Amino acid sequence: MTWTQHAADLFNIELSAEQNNQFDTFQRLLAEWNKKINLTTITEPDDVQIRHFLDSLSIASIIGFDDGDKLIDVGTGAGFPGLPLAIAFPNIEVTLLDSTQKKVNYLEAVLSEIGLSNVTTVHGRAEDVGQNAAYREQYDIVVARAVAMLPTLLEYLMPFAKIGGFCIAMKGESAAREVEEAKRALFVLKGDAKPLAEVTLPDVEKSHFLVTIEKLERTPKIYPRQAGTPKKKPIGS
Ligand code: SAH
Repeated sequence: MTWTQHAADLFNIELSAEQNNQFDTFQRLLAEWNKKINLTTITEPDDVQIRHFLDSLSIASIIGFDDGDKLIDVGTGAGFPGLPLAIAFPNIEVTLLDSTQKKVNYLEAVLSEIGLSNVTTVHGRAEDVGQNAAYREQYDIVVARAVAMLPTLLEYLMPFAKIGGFCIAMKGESAAREVEEAKRALFVLKGDAKPLAEVTLPDVEKSHFLVTIEKLERTPKIYPRQAGTPKKKPIGS
């Protein structure tokens, strides 16, 4: 079974021939750029398709995208999960944020080669960009994978969400414990944690979990605190 058949099977995502080509181009550029800059330790083509592409699309198993929805991927790195979502759902507006300029340069190269018009990149730290009115409380969906522990991560993510919007953190086996540890952060940042959603990927032994947080009220102005502080002194620690 190809990875795109899994995407249809598991997440109901049917990719057109054009979208398939876009993923192929993305995969080729990721491999090329990975020789020059550190982007991913996953290099086997099948692994890239399952652990990067399919894993990114797992977000669609728990949330429906409406036309024009705005999504930001915080700490996108090589583009995960935001770029696969942008390819699979061309009707949403995707912002890819990362603090490493080299990665943003790579993302820009990928975007221009694939020809995606629903994606913009932002170079900066979540702590700074989250205080910028152009980005703060502007997003329906805020996602992140492998960026920080949940108490820290929520301080990065929640400021970007609109009231009634959702933050989705892609986590591994530690998901339930991290939600427990984020109780104080959830209270302070006005977030309501939904039940965990388990994701099982083909030929991947360990389960993944999607942690979904609804934003109930505006985020207090002092959050996110200055760059570095959310990690050094997570809320509730
Ligand atoms: N989400 C990707 C990359 C994870 S690595 C994936 O799952 O494959 C973490 C990335 O987050 C790195 O690219 C790093 O530059 C970025 N990052 C870490 N802290 C950040 C912050 N405070 N603001 C913005 N980006 C950050």
